[in-house]
Amino acid sequence: MAAKIIDGKAIAEEMRQEIADQASQLKLEVGLAPGLAAVLVGEDPASATYVRMKRRACEKVGIESFGHELPADASQEEVEELVRELGEDPKVHGILVQLPLPDHIDEESVLNTVPLEKDVDGFHPVNIGRLTMKNREPLFIPCTPHGVIELLEQAGAKFEGAEAVVLGRSNIVGLPVAMLLLHRNCTTTICHSRTKDLPAVTSEADILIAAVGQPEMVKADWVKPGAYVIDVGTNRVDDVSAKRGYRLTGDVDFDEVKEVAGALSPSPGGVGPMTITMLLQNTLRSAQRALL
Ligand code: NDP
Repeated sequence: MAAKIIDGKAIAEEMRQEIADQASQLKLEVGLAPGLAAVLVGEDPASATYVRMKRRACEKVGIESFGHELPADASQEEVEELVRELGEDPKVHGILVQLPLPDHIDEESVLNTVPLEKDVDGFHPVNIGRLTMKNREPLFIPCTPHGVIELLEQAGAKFEGAEAVVLGRSNIVGLPVAMLLLHRNCTTTICHSRTKDLPAVTSEADILIAAVGQPEMVKADWVKPGAYVIDVGTNRVDDVSAKRGYRLTGDVDFDEVKEVAGALSPSPGGVGPMTITMLLQNTLRSAQRALL
């Protein structure tokens, strides 16, 4: 039987409506909208596009967005000074430092400058520490991993005692997703480039998360029949028939796996739209915490 397709776009749209309602309610109550500041250093076109998308998404739900652009040769001190100023600005409830930063900038030091209570990306070491430890609550959960869990919840996945396998162990996706699944009482296995016999491991999974950046690597025989499969991968592959000369595809072979999985989130159209939605939600929560 073909898998139920988890429509990330539709789920994200519904959540954004709820965020918009709560943002306008907050403004009515306290006279201030939630505010997100985005810091962009240099002119990397992909980073500029991401920042534009995030700012546009803010505007649509009534979150005020403040753009701050610094030249590619800005000094460490200039970047950190800007982040410190934003940390003290009462109109700013979330600070987003768009990564990657130019090579001469110490990224970890800049991220440490973001005050914990405005760390809406959830990358502050204290937030990651709390996310990892048992019985601790981070102030913010990183956006992509949070989006993965939200998709699983909305699709009706059962976490308790489930075998969960996460492909990938990066700081921004694989590792935090694995921790979130562990805390939901899954028996969680993390795979990476040195894992032996990946299909043998993944085909035991009730919940399978693919976050490796390898186009269509996960095939039908890697997947347990009925499993919940979330494809985080976003890969460009050459395609002469496409207008741009490439198309986007996930880490999962969608056409094959949809015949085996119980539920499958596609890429594009799955986790992608959820990532920005979780950023909006974190910013709203931060503003509610500060203002109510
Ligand atoms: P990284 O490159 O940081 O990490 C990739 C992970 O996959 C590593 O742990 C690596 O192992 C592992 N890996 C790579 N190749 C293999 C392989 N052949 N077999 C087994 N494991 C492998 O990537 P990210 O975590 O940043 O991103 C993963 C994917 O998710 C990318 O396609 C990215 O574009 C996408 N993404 C999508 C987002 C969204 O919003 N939808 C947001 C962020 C990422 P090792 O550690 O051993 O090197």
